[in-house]
Amino acid sequence: MNPRLRLDYFDGHSARPQSAEIWLSDGHLHLSAGAEAQYPAGEVRWPERQRHGQRQAQLPDGGLLSCADAAAWDAWAQGSGLRDPLAVHWTQSWRRVLLAVMLLLALLFACWRWGAPLAADLIVQALPASAEQQIGSQSLDYLDRHWLQPSTLDADQREQIARRFERLVAASAVDAAALRYQLHFRAGSKLLGPNAFALPGGEIVLTDALVELLHDSPDALQGVLVHELGHVRHRHGLRMAVQSGLVGALAGLVVGDFSALLAGLPALLAQQAYSRDFEREADTQAHQMLRSAGLSPRVMLQFFERIAAIEARQTGVPSLLSSHPATPERIAFFSQ
Ligand SMILES: [Zn+2]
Repeated sequence: MNPRLRLDYFDGHSARPQSAEIWLSDGHLHLSAGAEAQYPAGEVRWPERQRHGQRQAQLPDGGLLSCADAAAWDAWAQGSGLRDPLAVHWTQSWRRVLLAVMLLLALLFACWRWGAPLAADLIVQALPASAEQQIGSQSLDYLDRHWLQPSTLDADQREQIARRFERLVAASAVDAAALRYQLHFRAGSKLLGPNAFALPGGEIVLTDALVELLHDSPDALQGVLVHELGHVRHRHGLRMAVQSGLVGALAGLVVGDFSALLAGLPALLAQQAYSRDFEREADTQAHQMLRSAGLSPRVMLQFFERIAAIEARQTGVPSLLSSHPATPERIAFFSQ
């Protein structure tokens, strides 16, 4: 015999309560108030478990059960095997729970996959140019202390390369006035090899070994430099730096101190572990600038060939050159 409970019943039309009796059976709530009715227990909005106050349950047809004696209700609910209404609700909506879990997982994945680059882009846009230049010059200082030595090229040769680059930039259709760059000649460690890289703020470093590698092909050297200028123009150095040190960058924005951001930056920049997308952007700009300056983009092929030859000789040796690989894709791109 299922326990019964006497309480007030409002039929939803009249404001006057009727005396009624309820009991649970076969998953249904049975109501006896003159006439009898029954409702699926899952469609009744059961009262939440509270310490005080009366208990009210809403019926699916708009009726209301009201029990002033909370203790009597609770005893009846327990005796009837009525589970905690909240638990009942969750179990009934297990599909919704599953959906919520899946959405949460998707959100976590999106944050991991796209959140950091997106946030980095927003920060980069918010950073003033002066901050970017500060980051660049501090990075260069760091590299000069740990990785780089003064160039041993003679001043005339450096001057020639810088002039040639200036003319190329001026001759190209790219808005040169908007570009701030500075060429720095350095002798790098053996690990750096023939290399060029762009730091935030437009500092472009090229190693003596690169100049020597392309000594008989000054146009190829220019091709490498405009590629680096592509990284400068799209602020890739800053974007990557912020992305890899997102937390430090946020701290920098707040307190104006970039040291946390700078800690791991120079090695990263020297490696130029740019994404393929960044490389494509830089290559696209290099291609355009060479074209508009009247040079063939094919000059880059010479650079690729020589880098590939070096890499073939030093297999197994960790090389920073591999950050700008002569992939078939790049060779095809500059062959057009
Ligand atoms: Zn690059």
